[in-house]
Amino acid sequence: MITYSIGLKNKFRGITVREGMLFEGPAGWGEWSPFLEYDDATCVAWLRAAREAAVDGWPAPVRDVVPVNCTVPAVGPVTAAEIVRASGCSTAKVKVAEPGQTLADDVDRLEAVRDAIGSGRVRIDANGAWSVDEAVRCLKELKRFDLEYVEQPCATVEELAAVRRRTDVLVAADESIRRAEDPLLVKKLDAADIAVLKVQPIGGVRACLEIAEQIGLPVVVSSALETSVGIAAGVALAAALPELPYACGLATVSMFTQEVVAEPLLPVDGLLSVKRVQPDPALLEAARASESRTAVWEERMTRVQKRSAG
Ligand SMILES: [Mg+2]
Repeated sequence: MITYSIGLKNKFRGITVREGMLFEGPAGWGEWSPFLEYDDATCVAWLRAAREAAVDGWPAPVRDVVPVNCTVPAVGPVTAAEIVRASGCSTAKVKVAEPGQTLADDVDRLEAVRDAIGSGRVRIDANGAWSVDEAVRCLKELKRFDLEYVEQPCATVEELAAVRRRTDVLVAADESIRRAEDPLLVKKLDAADIAVLKVQPIGGVRACLEIAEQIGLPVVVSSALETSVGIAAGVALAAALPELPYACGLATVSMFTQEVVAEPLLPVDGLLSVKRVQPDPALLEAARASESRTAVWEERMTRVQKRSAG
């Protein structure tokens, strides 16, 4: 078991360093990297996912490549266009409704992305920041960029349902599924057209496949900002889904300044190969966290293991 600490190229979710644990079992390597602010109860599902990867392995894939989107953070239009062009992806996910920015900033960014991606697809993610009225008003303005969908326009499932009734832009639920007590509420309230699923927060590939079946919506698999070891689990889910009509949010390895595998899960022409990955001993060593950070993570692991056993 090794604790890693890897810098991010740009601040993301308010963090500049990503930490987690990697361990090997009979089926291969697993990653356990719940964000630091998460309480022990939340981390149990993340541990289930890591154990599945290391101990049980994943269901057989039905495809050997997975299309992925590039991610455009709340940057200016020039950088936004550069990110899209450099990615080789034909789908872009653009952050909107960033605190401290205006709709005009979103318009500028989307104009640049739409221009850079040509006939490709453009989706936006508001991370729950809009009220229902704001969402309806902003979507009216932004839909001219031919949006594939809007991800989590508002915070609650009830609000998503309200927005969905007042716009013709498709609505995807992300936080409303992985942070919800009842991930199926989105379905019950007709609150979304698309479900975003993340393997670690939901507790593994099989747990996600079960939700996908019960929720009855097309699924977009996204990462929780992991090393290639964690991303491989997302790829396994995307590869095992019966249908995969949308590009997945799994091209996030490029946000890391270091990697633990020799051939990271980076997309080529917008596609990720479906494969298991094996950390490289030297790269693993180079990514190893300090003794004090390792101690923090080992204590955390012990607490969460106890909780998940009890
Ligand atoms: Mg999201």
